[in-house]
Amino acid sequence: MNDPEIIKTNGATFKRLISAQEIEEKIVQLAQQIRKDMGNTEVPVFLCILKGAFIFAADLVRNYEGLCELQFLRISSYSGADSTGKVTMYPGLDVEKLKDRRVVVVEDIVDTGLSMNCLLKDLRQYKPRTLDVAALFTKPSRLCHDVKVDYSCFEIPDAFIVGYGLDYDGLYRNFPAIYVKE
Ligand code: 5GP
Repeated sequence: MNDPEIIKTNGATFKRLISAQEIEEKIVQLAQQIRKDMGNTEVPVFLCILKGAFIFAADLVRNYEGLCELQFLRISSYSGADSTGKVTMYPGLDVEKLKDRRVVVVEDIVDTGLSMNCLLKDLRQYKPRTLDVAALFTKPSRLCHDVKVDYSCFEIPDAFIVGYGLDYDGLYRNFPAIYVKE
């Protein structure tokens, strides 16, 4: 596995916190658990929150042994308007496909829970039959908003992590595992 313990780049040193193998094992288990919970007849809709969850979502759906749909969502502080002039909070999201469906939000980290709390409130208006949260990481010591994470891979301490899709200032998303800056 090419996930070195130390990466020195860009004048900084990063130490590995969670290996690529540990991540892979957890995601396989998570995909199996979700598959079991969905049963044989459900086709869940996975909602990948861009950009941080893109690798997690890709690995999760590849290990999901059943039919599923995948949508991508960008949380932004601005609103867009479509050609009808209707304001859409999440441009590109096919909201018709959420109604009466079992929706699983796929997020990189639930930190304070603020973004997830707001997102879940917004998504409920599209009337999914169930709305669950799958987070690769949670930071329990930081959580201060009412968010239930239904599927969590790792609980981590209060540290800023990068790699496996997570960035700092746009960089380091391509690190093969999870790292902290030394
Ligand atoms: P919250 O709204 O829960 O406080 O923050 C969630 C978002 O903050 C995450 O989706 C992620 O984009 C960012 N974030 C929180 N903690 C970290 C971290 O340790 N590393 C990185 N790269 N992003 C983080």
